[in-house]
Amino acid sequence: MLSTMQDEPLSLATLLRYASTFVGDSTVSTWTGSGVRTMTYRELGAESARLAHALRGLGIGIGDRVGTFMWNNNEHVVAYIAVPAMGAVLHALNIRLFPDQVVYVANHAEDQVVLVDGTLVPLFAQLLPNMTTVRHVIVVNGDASTLTAPAGVQVHSYPELLATQPDTYDFPVIDERSAAAMCYTSGTTGDPKGVVYSHRSNWLHAMQVGAPSGMCLFGTDSILTIVPLFHANAWGLPYAALMSGANLLMPDRFLQPGPLLEFMAAQKPSFAAAVPTIWGGVLAGLEANPQDISHLRSVIVGGSAVPPSMMRAFDDKHNVRVLHAWGMTETSPLGSVAHPPATALTEEDVWAYRITQGRFPAGVQARLVADDGSVVPNDGASLGEVEVRGPWITGSYYSPDGAAVDAEKFDNGWLRTGDVGGISPDGYLTLVDRSKDVIKSGGEWISSVDLENAVMGHPAVAEAVVIGVPDEKWDERPLVAIVLVEGAEAKPEQLREFLTDKFAKWQLPERWTFIAEVPKTSVGKFDKKRLRTQYAEGALDVTTLA
Ligand code: AMP
Repeated sequence: MLSTMQDEPLSLATLLRYASTFVGDSTVSTWTGSGVRTMTYRELGAESARLAHALRGLGIGIGDRVGTFMWNNNEHVVAYIAVPAMGAVLHALNIRLFPDQVVYVANHAEDQVVLVDGTLVPLFAQLLPNMTTVRHVIVVNGDASTLTAPAGVQVHSYPELLATQPDTYDFPVIDERSAAAMCYTSGTTGDPKGVVYSHRSNWLHAMQVGAPSGMCLFGTDSILTIVPLFHANAWGLPYAALMSGANLLMPDRFLQPGPLLEFMAAQKPSFAAAVPTIWGGVLAGLEANPQDISHLRSVIVGGSAVPPSMMRAFDDKHNVRVLHAWGMTETSPLGSVAHPPATALTEEDVWAYRITQGRFPAGVQARLVADDGSVVPNDGASLGEVEVRGPWITGSYYSPDGAAVDAEKFDNGWLRTGDVGGISPDGYLTLVDRSKDVIKSGGEWISSVDLENAVMGHPAVAEAVVIGVPDEKWDERPLVAIVLVEGAEAKPEQLREFLTDKFAKWQLPERWTFIAEVPKTSVGKFDKKRLRTQYAEGALDVTTLA
């Protein structure tokens, strides 16, 4: 028996229509370094129409890829919604990838047009000659004449191109399963892999992001979106904001702790999203120059494990609640969010849940699989590789010729995440490590993340990263690389002593090194691969304790 329900496709054009009418007074604002440029969602609707007309004039049709090479700002949000709404496919390029990787992904995705921020033109100019499918470049917030285009490529100025376009557009009704946007993984090994989101997946994901079991967004929120729009769909925030009527606050290129804190002081966001390394910098900035940030009712932190000491510092010192979340480019990315359940009654219980990677929402099915392929129970104790499935989880990687890419990442309809952990009977995920980062010492596992989290609880430690290094006797042992808080001192003996009540004796690291800075990936995560190379090349000064 079929339902009597109307079969309305879940298209992003419906979000644009809603945002530019019923919540048309809500705004997106971009920090200029001293103030904001603000656009209402009504104006965003008109500018989206003008951009869609302009792109159609450049030959962009349904399914064509439109790249962006931009900071988080008003115009980037316009492209984020206008491109899919017109039936084309938005491809936000990661401006921090190595140059040949940016070229690789633009060619692989076959981007036809790229919108480029004026400040990024010098960087983009070096990449453009190797981009084989780009025919048009649109320079946003800058001088288009500064970009010399190779033969066959036309350069346009965004304001000039849009100036004469109509501010309404007949956005087409398209199949909800069609491609809306794509992101490439920021994987540190091999070529980046493309994930293609559909209108349906982004729509359902935005509903989940806004829901109480997700980020719990209200129309009264102002969302400081520090996570780049090119990193995993900006965690779904732009679409969730349009859906909930929340305001968006965009930091543009002002991503250092000082400017971020000035932006916060001026605009008082109620919600914010970024990876732990950004928040570590913000916390250090607040130590140096105290400021009230309690206007933030909540901040969502994910992308790598959030040290419990960081969550406590936000709570205790700043009255800001950190929501720990887990996800991947492949999962749109919302996979789990650590809201405690109703059964957690004591403060201790609540914290036990908050430091997990979070609870899976109804739309994400999850299971644990052992090395031999058997499914292990969700009993909170057994460990395995986390596998997920659901309407916003990718079922494959993009392949222009249809040949399977990394087929071993998929297991009969499940995505193999490469993350190792446990799941409690009430659906909370606790990650131990990435399977490639876990340290195998004498046949036993040591979690690099557990060690990092614990060492980062020491007051003298600003950042700590742990890698496995070869060991004659045990095969592999942990090496701890420490960045000290400015002006602080700590000896390896003292740091190891600090860990003694938290780990078994055999897990305590004997190898320690002090470094000026942890190498970071293009999306601000600890780059363990680079640290391993530095170790292998003998570039680290390692102390080995007896
Ligand atoms: P990306 O696709 O760049 O967002 O990377 C996804 C990977 O980041 C996941 O597979 C995890 O290994 C890691 N990750 C994301 N969130 C967390 C978290 N809350 N705790 C630990 N690792 C995380």
